[in-house]
Amino acid sequence: MKNSQYDVVIVGGGLAGLTSAAYLAYHGKKVALLERGKLGGRAMTIQLKGYQFNFGAHAIYARDTSYLTKIEQELDLRIHWEDFSQLKAKYDMGEEATVITSNIGGLLQTKLLKGFDKFRFAYHMLFTTLGFEKGDPNLSIQEWIELRKISPAVKEMMLNLATTNFFSGDPDSIPSDVFFNYYRRLFKTNIPVSFIQGGWKVLIEEYKRVIKENNGVIFEKTKITDVVTEQGRITEVQTKKHAFSGEQFIFAIPPEELQKLLHGTAIKPELERYTDYEPTYVMFYDVGLKKRIESDYTYIFDKNRQIFVTDISYYDTEAAPEGGQLLQAVGYLKQSDINDPTAHDAMVEKMERFYDKHFPGWRKTLAIPRASKKPVLQAIRWTMNQRGLPLHFEALPNVFFAGDWCQGYGQLSEVSFSSAYLVSKSILNQHSAINNS
Ligand SMILES: Cc1cc2nc3c(=O)[nH]c(=O)nc-3n(C[C@H](O)[C@H](O)[C@H](O)COP(=O)(O)OP(=O)(O)OC[C@H]3O[C@@H](n4cnc5c(N)ncnc54)[C@H](O)[C@@H]3O)c2cc1C
Repeated sequence: MKNSQYDVVIVGGGLAGLTSAAYLAYHGKKVALLERGKLGGRAMTIQLKGYQFNFGAHAIYARDTSYLTKIEQELDLRIHWEDFSQLKAKYDMGEEATVITSNIGGLLQTKLLKGFDKFRFAYHMLFTTLGFEKGDPNLSIQEWIELRKISPAVKEMMLNLATTNFFSGDPDSIPSDVFFNYYRRLFKTNIPVSFIQGGWKVLIEEYKRVIKENNGVIFEKTKITDVVTEQGRITEVQTKKHAFSGEQFIFAIPPEELQKLLHGTAIKPELERYTDYEPTYVMFYDVGLKKRIESDYTYIFDKNRQIFVTDISYYDTEAAPEGGQLLQAVGYLKQSDINDPTAHDAMVEKMERFYDKHFPGWRKTLAIPRASKKPVLQAIRWTMNQRGLPLHFEALPNVFFAGDWCQGYGQLSEVSFSSAYLVSKSILNQHSAINNS
């Protein structure tokens, strides 16, 4: 079996693995990045008929305070951003649409709150931003709200925010500390949502550039099937033909893969406890249109139907050919819907009717549709009894974890970026960053 030696071996070439590999290579480590398929993982961009379909909407939340921005600056990544127009993000209220309240601008404009309730909500925003409102890990946001004597309109507003941003129709399952942590960041930001021009593929290419310029090596189509341990440390990971030895290892692979690979190590019980997650499943239905259909909003959310549509090409101008448009509808899937083909068809129909309502005429100018089955939006769903995988266990000292199933910050890919950043720093500082964070 062929063997190569590295400082750090990173298993998994999604956003978390790429981030760690680029960061460590940039700081002088000899790294190998091993990916079983193609780089990018769930952050994929597929080009069809001149439209760029991103697996997700590649929307980055609160980028001015995000780990991705820190990484972008430190590694000098060449990314162009297009920031969301806050006042173009709306709730569908049935007969009319109104602005979403994620900052003071939205609060002043929204019709969801009237008169004194706007002041009451502003007070909550201020308290959250200043860090006084922290929530309680033992109370869901629904329970937390019930315990406080909050006015019905403010209560409704907070529950709307919870369902909009946590990809869950069930505020009873969102821990209130997670809710307030998230909103502290969002209320502080000047740019709640931004898009990467050109989609995920631009970020992936930038990471590749940094890795290669700093003598890192990338192996695609390289599935790790075994690990070798000696004296309580992992010494190498293996494919059928190749072994990769390292001083340190980062596993940036999802929980079910981790369980398979690391079942013979000292952390087996911890892995069983932490990786038995229920992920958040969604369904998306993108439509590439030949001609733009103008509307007052670029994002519209229907709470009752649990669907939202984003006008992707309004922000990412490379997503559609000139004059065209790329829209993306995303709907939440309930656990019972996941393997039910009739639920899938019903969701497609619901999304088509939502497009009919907000982008009338889309069927006549349709160039290409693309509907997903049941992608995993986030590998861990925020619930009262699920918490992210720790980034490190003392029982396996030279092994670290990163990915959107880990104990990172924020939501979605920000959990991948932050966990990857923290483990990389920790390796560079010989483990102190995680303990101090
Ligand atoms: C529909 C949808 C919409 C989304 N929208 C957004 C959005 O708007 N904004 C946002 O921030 N995020 C969004 N996300 C989430 C974002 O895509 C993920 O959080 C992020 O891509 C996760 O990256 P990761 O590296 O943590 O995990 P993954 O992408 O799952 O990477 C894990 C990698 O490990 C590889 N691997 C697994 N096993 C092995 C093995 N044995 N050997 C080698 N390699 C292995 C896999 O092939 C994969 O490439 C969306 C996701 C979806 C599905």
